[in-house]
Amino acid sequence: MTDCIFCRILRGEIPAQMVYDGPRAFAILDINPVSWGHTLVIPRDHFETWNELPADLAAELAKAAQVVARGVVKAAGAEGFNLLMNNHRCSGQAIAHAHFHVIPRKTGDEIKYQWKTKPYDPGVIEKVGSEVRAALMK
Ligand code: 5GP
Ligand code: ZN
Repeated sequence: MTDCIFCRILRGEIPAQMVYDGPRAFAILDINPVSWGHTLVIPRDHFETWNELPADLAAELAKAAQVVARGVVKAAGAEGFNLLMNNHRCSGQAIAHAHFHVIPRKTGDEIKYQWKTKPYDPGVIEKVGSEVRAALMK
């Protein structure tokens, strides 16, 4: 048993707007939404990040995220949505219990990522590709 907010919501200790209640995952409205209907899809069991989830639970969470995203898009009358997960504090994860965000989007909604991107210098992408492939083999 953990004291994390999502585990406490699941135990009924903190109120939440539950919108999906499945055998291995549930979904609640985010209390501080980026857009109308912003929803969090959460495994019932406590694991900190995507990488700690057992593969079968990751698959069930992904399936639940698809069911929830379809419903949220319909309810919001959205044109699209962002599906994202922050992993570890450095990425913006505030609650250390893995969860997907489903954020309904419409053209011109003025929601912006703050990420800045830049292309690799010439020849670098091949080296990065080699290093990532090597890490995946280990
Ligand atoms: P993270 O930053 O961990 O990816 O996202 C955590 C999300 O949980 C935030 O968007 C935040 O608004 C939401 N949140 C934090 N506390 C509560 C709460 O008590 N209830 C609900 N429904 N959402 C919460
Ligand atoms: Zn938890």
